[in-house]
Amino acid sequence: MWLKWHRPKFEVMNTLSSRDQQVIWHPYTQMKTAELPIAVTRGEGVYLFDDNGNKYIDAISSWWVNIHGHAHPFLAEKLYQQAKKLEHVMFAGFTHEPAVQLAERLLPMLPGEFSKIFYSDNGSTAVEVALKMAIQYWKNVKGARHKEQGTRKAQDTSKKEEPRRKIVALKNSYHGDTFGSMSVSERGIFTLPFKDYLFEVVFLDIPTKDNIESIKNKIDEIGEEACCFIYEPLVQGAGGMVMYESHLLDEIIQACKKHDIICIADEVMTGFYRTGRMFASEHMQQKPDIICLSKGITGGMLPLGATACTKRIFNAFLSDDKSKTFFHGHSYTANPLACAVANASLDLLEVGEFRFQLDQVIRLHNSFPTHLAVRTSRFALKNLRRCGTILAFEVETNEKDDYLNTIGKVISKKALEAGVLLRPLGNTIYFMPPYCITKQQLERVYIVTQEVLHEL
Ligand code: PMP
Repeated sequence: MWLKWHRPKFEVMNTLSSRDQQVIWHPYTQMKTAELPIAVTRGEGVYLFDDNGNKYIDAISSWWVNIHGHAHPFLAEKLYQQAKKLEHVMFAGFTHEPAVQLAERLLPMLPGEFSKIFYSDNGSTAVEVALKMAIQYWKNVKGARHKEQGTRKAQDTSKKEEPRRKIVALKNSYHGDTFGSMSVSERGIFTLPFKDYLFEVVFLDIPTKDNIESIKNKIDEIGEEACCFIYEPLVQGAGGMVMYESHLLDEIIQACKKHDIICIADEVMTGFYRTGRMFASEHMQQKPDIICLSKGITGGMLPLGATACTKRIFNAFLSDDKSKTFFHGHSYTANPLACAVANASLDLLEVGEFRFQLDQVIRLHNSFPTHLAVRTSRFALKNLRRCGTILAFEVETNEKDDYLNTIGKVISKKALEAGVLLRPLGNTIYFMPPYCITKQQLERVYIVTQEVLHEL
């Protein structure tokens, strides 16, 4: 017998938004001052529709995940087919076609010599897995490397037998909201309440042509004490779409490689063509040892994380000694539905139409300054920059240039009223649309933005 569902009796609950307000705590939201959330009832392509009959162009791919547009029929169909076959099975001791196929497809696409995929379920966990792999790698190989070189050498270098401990990251980075991923992120507004609980990290400056030599010197100083270096290649997303040049990152990775430091590319945001290439790491000569993927991997249909590693890292966990096992896993690791839509998303990336769409977004972004010909009435715009399908700039206000700058909220509200979903990071406005956005739709985004800025 079915249990009857009794709707809880809270206050008068007319709309979905007001019902939401009674029972839900939203992410990255000050609930005291939050306005009623917009109740989305449907998505189609680049559009989201609300329960008041409004439609919005999703110009930021719903937190950067939705690369093919909403409710894509091909992804939905593949999801349905998989759901009828196998919705889930635990991933220790069991496997299934979608997970194996996805790993078989991803590995040869990845920039570098990757040998294994470890699944998890979001970007933060993909990063946690990468950090834990790197830390445990050095524990697992402790002794083994010197043993290979002979007993005498092992005695001589006994001091060096301690596993490497230092973790290196870039200033202003964002790698997620779990403790490990917060630890390697900028100590700022997102991490402030937890700062005493985060592990120590050596932060390097964001590279410029003026500071690259001193960054390399710092890496040389840390040398063989460093366990790993984690970075968002080319674009620091949540840190305000800060972009830096590929040849500078190349030099940093090269400096790390000199000391055998494990390089971890966090491609959670940059993966799947965000920077114009399948992975941002393709822009560099030097390749990472570990890559973290999530967000666009399923085209925004379901959560999934994937961490790829090289053979050398994987091999360090092979042992008769059980303590060398990688004891990490999540209930939904390699969920078959998520893996099936990830495969379907890769299919979509392989059709000719996709290349046209991608090139069009990049081309239109490149012509964007002309759309900003009308200057805003009160505020200047600065620092216009682009990387592939990402375009960003700052609005100059008399507040600090950061996430708490209040202009962003004003802009996003006005843009929503005009039918465009933007979510500025403080005073940084950016566009990161689904690739299926048409010329007319993207131009509409530009025009609305321009009008909003003009009215400020
Ligand atoms: N790494 C990067 C580079 C990201 O941009 C994000 C999310 N914005 C994460 C990790 C964390 O991903 P998730 O929100 O899925 O945990």
